[in-house]
Amino acid sequence: MNNWIRPLAVGVLAAVAGIAAAQQQDFSKVEIKVTKVAGNVYLLEGAGGNIAASVGDDGIVIVDDQFAPLADKIRAALKGITTKPLRFIINTHYHFDHTGGNLPFHDATIIAHDNVRKRLAQNNVLGNGGSMKMEQPANPPEALPVITFQHDVTLHVNGEDIRALHAPSGHTDGDSIVFFPKSYVLHTGDDFVRYGFPFIDIGGGGSSKGMIAALEGAMAQLPADVKVIPGHGALSTLTDVRDFVKMLKDTRAAVEKEVKAGKTLQQMQQAKVLAPWQKYSGPFVSTDLFIETLYNELTGTKTAGLVKHN
Ligand SMILES: [Zn+2]
Repeated sequence: MNNWIRPLAVGVLAAVAGIAAAQQQDFSKVEIKVTKVAGNVYLLEGAGGNIAASVGDDGIVIVDDQFAPLADKIRAALKGITTKPLRFIINTHYHFDHTGGNLPFHDATIIAHDNVRKRLAQNNVLGNGGSMKMEQPANPPEALPVITFQHDVTLHVNGEDIRALHAPSGHTDGDSIVFFPKSYVLHTGDDFVRYGFPFIDIGGGGSSKGMIAALEGAMAQLPADVKVIPGHGALSTLTDVRDFVKMLKDTRAAVEKEVKAGKTLQQMQQAKVLAPWQKYSGPFVSTDLFIETLYNELTGTKTAGLVKHN
């Protein structure tokens, strides 16, 4: 999720507003910025989640596809890199700002974790288990991934073994982190973002615990100079990921301590228990909303049921 949905994330705004706002967003002024990252991997930035593109003799593989109204612009941006066809799409998770292009791009083979397909096929209420809440309605069958996996999948194209590895219960319950081993590039999906405190989709099976585990697992396996494409925000390094993980662990521990002391959510917000991390408070996820997210996770508060994990 990106910060354009911020107005829906505060106060008592109704869940039904989410998709209406997405449909009303004006994409006409959005431009797709293309940056060469390393090896044969490019970064495409427009609106919604960052897109990684592997380009080579075998064609194009993209990771995530933003919004349907941007499909022509994304196509044009890819044409500026190569005349080869788009062959594969990997969805890092089910959120509509990462999968909206599935329908217009459905001639390509769409690949994702099992739970991404399940969630794209059903109506979802995504949110932080409390006041952040949005509806994402079911997608038509043509927009669904046709290849799904439980643990990991490898695409042997463009001279490298592109690996999508499922990380359980992080940003959602269907996240994948994608590694391009020859190009030394990682796409983290929304397990790692640069807009401040992260949105964690508790309603969609997410948890800070899983995000921490996913990122620590990735960091342990990767060379220090790997280039990191976050779900949202600027191209990053492993040091940026490490700082983000430290913030997640420290804030989680701070809220957990208060939960154990029997404090209510309101008391924690009034006491500003996350004041030391105020610089992460963003227009999308404020400090109070992040306290609420962690509180809901740690106390088992949820507004929507999980898709059963395989
Ligand atoms: Zn997301």
